[in-house]
Amino acid sequence: MQARRSNDRGRTRAIRQFNNMESFDQLLLEAEAAHGHLCAGQILGVRMALLGLSRLGLAARPQGPDRKRLVTYVEIDRCATDAIALVTGCRLGKRALKFRDWGKMAATFVDLAAPRAIRIAALEQSRDLADQLYAHLDTRTGRQMQAYRDLPDSRLFREQWVSVAVGPVDLPGHSGDRIVCPRCGEGVSFGRLAPLEGELVCLSCAHPELRYWQPCDPPR
Ligand SMILES: [Zn+2]
Ligand SMILES: [Zn+2]
Repeated sequence: MQARRSNDRGRTRAIRQFNNMESFDQLLLEAEAAHGHLCAGQILGVRMALLGLSRLGLAARPQGPDRKRLVTYVEIDRCATDAIALVTGCRLGKRALKFRDWGKMAATFVDLAAPRAIRIAALEQSRDLADQLYAHLDTRTGRQMQAYRDLPDSRLFREQWVSVAVGPVDLPGHSGDRIVCPRCGEGVSFGRLAPLEGELVCLSCAHPELRYWQPCDPPR
């Protein structure tokens, strides 16, 4: 804890707003329970989400109207993503968590009401920093976990105010028409259609080359 410095105020503020009774450690415990294990990703994810929320002036796990004003974009499907979902309260099934598969340890926290958004990316050099500062710890994971706990936000993250156009169709709570694709007969929500030979078809029929699956023979 002694490595915590004054520019760590964002984290402290978010924790205070969250609930005086609970703490960073409490959030981490819950992240561990939800995720299945405690790992460097949980610590980094909790820190990243707390920083994003504090910059937006929102508490951890916002409640009521504050919960509905928040949308979070995550750019990787790794451990930290679970922690980010827990701390923000944003869930895929509620359309408040958006996944952009860019393979980056980064997330953007969007306040729809303001509107404003902040993108937070983990600094690549924080791994090397962990190795230098905590060389006395045996494992790389141990060094990272300690660094992600102790280091101030400025040494772990890059932050950037950004503009995010969350279209009406992508808002949480939006329920648009369900269109049946004339090619494959499967229902499609949220207008995820594309033109093909004069009709609107599902993305899979419009762009078979982009499918993540291809038809094959059934296993024997
Ligand atoms: Zn993990
Ligand atoms: Zn189709």
